[in-house]
Amino acid sequence: MQEHEKSCSLCGYEISSPTCVDCLRKQIIGFIGNRVDLKQDVEENIQIFECFDTHKAECIFCDDAVAVCSFCFYRDVYQVLKQSNLALAEEFARLFQCSGEIQTYLNHYFSSSSSNVA
Ligand SMILES: [Zn+2]
Ligand SMILES: [Zn+2]
Repeated sequence: MQEHEKSCSLCGYEISSPTCVDCLRKQIIGFIGNRVDLKQDVEENIQIFECFDTHKAECIFCDDAVAVCSFCFYRDVYQVLKQSNLALAEEFARLFQCSGEIQTYLNHYFSSSSSNVA
């Protein structure tokens, strides 16, 4: 019963570095800075994540409950940014893919929707 309790409510992947929505929001807002139009889009998007209140893990920063993994969160924010500002979305992806894992994850996620050019 305990083995999978740390899995993300959205993707089922193990939550390796649990970070709560509040702490993630601070990161994102810090990144977006003074781009007010984007901030509103992203804030709206973040509210969706606040609906997940399952306690799967504790935030490594503040001990708050975490229900979804950072990848799912970043992925969604990336999508929102991409719609309004592709360059910024690329910058975001570069900054937040610290370990390279997120890029693998994004590739995996997007590979099904994009046509395969060799
Ligand atoms: Zn996830
Ligand atoms: Zn936190």
